[in-house]
Amino acid sequence: MSQDNIIAIIQARMGSSRLPGKVLRDLGGEPVLARVINRVLRAKTLTGVVVATTTDPVDDPIAAFCQQQAVPVFRGSQFDVLDRYYQAAREHHADVVVRITADCPMIDPLEIDRVVTAFLEGEYDFAANRLPPPAQRTSPIGMDTEVCSFAALTQAWQNATEPYEREHVMPYLYDTPGRFRVKIVETEPSLGHLRFTIDTEEDLQVARAIYAAFGNRDDFSLAELLEQNALHPQWQASLAGVRHKSLTEVDARAQTNAIEETAQIPQAAPAVPACPLCGQQNARVLHRMQSFGFPVVYYHCQACGFVFQDAAASRAAQPNFYTENYRQLYQQSAAPTPKDLHQQQLRAEDQIRFLRAQGVQSLARVLDIGASSGLFLQALQQEFQAEGVGVEPGNAYRALAEAQGLRMVTSLPELIASRPERFDLVSLMHVLEHLPDPVVVLRQIRAELLTPQGWLLLEVPNFYAHNSYELAHLSCFTPHTIVEALSKAGYEIIDLRQHGYPRSKLFKLYLNVLAQPSTNPPTDYKVRPERAVPFKRSLAIAWRDLRARLDPKRSWLPVEEK
Ligand SMILES: [Zn+2]
Repeated sequence: MSQDNIIAIIQARMGSSRLPGKVLRDLGGEPVLARVINRVLRAKTLTGVVVATTTDPVDDPIAAFCQQQAVPVFRGSQFDVLDRYYQAAREHHADVVVRITADCPMIDPLEIDRVVTAFLEGEYDFAANRLPPPAQRTSPIGMDTEVCSFAALTQAWQNATEPYEREHVMPYLYDTPGRFRVKIVETEPSLGHLRFTIDTEEDLQVARAIYAAFGNRDDFSLAELLEQNALHPQWQASLAGVRHKSLTEVDARAQTNAIEETAQIPQAAPAVPACPLCGQQNARVLHRMQSFGFPVVYYHCQACGFVFQDAAASRAAQPNFYTENYRQLYQQSAAPTPKDLHQQQLRAEDQIRFLRAQGVQSLARVLDIGASSGLFLQALQQEFQAEGVGVEPGNAYRALAEAQGLRMVTSLPELIASRPERFDLVSLMHVLEHLPDPVVVLRQIRAELLTPQGWLLLEVPNFYAHNSYELAHLSCFTPHTIVEALSKAGYEIIDLRQHGYPRSKLFKLYLNVLAQPSTNPPTDYKVRPERAVPFKRSLAIAWRDLRARLDPKRSWLPVEEK
């Protein structure tokens, strides 16, 4: 069979239940997908490599990346991955198809060759170095290679009916003993307990550490990887809790019978998250929604009344959300829009008036966390002749601020690690609601960054007027809970102002607080509960919507673009 056209088809999608966009995430200077392609191209038994993605516009970046790299790309069905494979194989005149997934940037070309060679040497329809659970695997997770003849793939394409058979491409070839000639290429001794794939954020961190250990080259072999792995026991240890998906788990976005299929797999009920305000684990689901394709769930703490998302489950709490996704999701652009800048300018002027009205006279050093393009920081520096620093994770916004000559850093931990001189004012404008652990950050600001007489200035959406429910909003503060959060973190409230500027003359959309560090910060603060929060929320939103109908002009003010 040496004249065969042996085509590796790498399946790649932007969507991923655990780590969306993973195939284009950075791995030592190159996207994950580039690493996979580079490694697969080194397999000597292959005659071609094709990336198979879907026709969904979400996957346009994958197609664009392949075109840019001159790698053949095929676009096909979103959920019928078997059909996508079949069509891609047919278009590329494959005699033998090798299935690789794009989440395996440590896959060893020698391992691909080993499985392809075993396939070619026997009279087989299908060969693989592992079958999915419940079968016991002996090759490390992340080396997965499946090989079949185009004739066998065609039979599967014609006959497979089960959702998992369509989504996982080749089960039809091995799930019924005796139907096809199957070869499993084992690894001895077994390495099936090792994990070198990218399915979760933890996986990605380990993959980055592995690549770093090889100087960010991608030509290391499995043998070399095993040597390094033995020297770094923390890699596998940090992945101990990560469970690999089983064969019958299918994409929940596929048709309804697919959902029934997943329902048969016993899954642990998700644990109730601990309340970020009072710490108790006694919350009920208050509101569920979809936002930008991600599930968003808000909980209501039965102990203290706080409304929050489970940060551990939220897309918005994942590292890199703000550097890579946030502005693009919300503003369709990573760069600031004129409307944005105009609104920030109005807010900046308003906040300076607020500070002056509260008797803030002089400030020598100011820090704006979530500084965006730096307009507020600039306004503070000018008004008070102050020295300033801004924290902004978004690359485009930070670049804009730096271009104005502002001193910027990427993250709060980075700033704290640099042990800066303390600040007379720290501002967090529309930042606190985005943080997984607001009380901890407020405490950190008091303990590490503010002078004893310093000012903390912050603004958050008011749950009793603002829509509040957004993918990126992990906390929903009320006038009561914002005061409790600040008190617990060791602040005295100087003023709590509720206002709608510059969006509304009628509605108190925002909670604007000026606070100072307590002289005696509490060590064991007991949060005072707020009662009937969901009821007050419903009433407030009903009232707001009624007023908006009766008095539309004053309700919502237009924000003119400059
Ligand atoms: Zn609570």
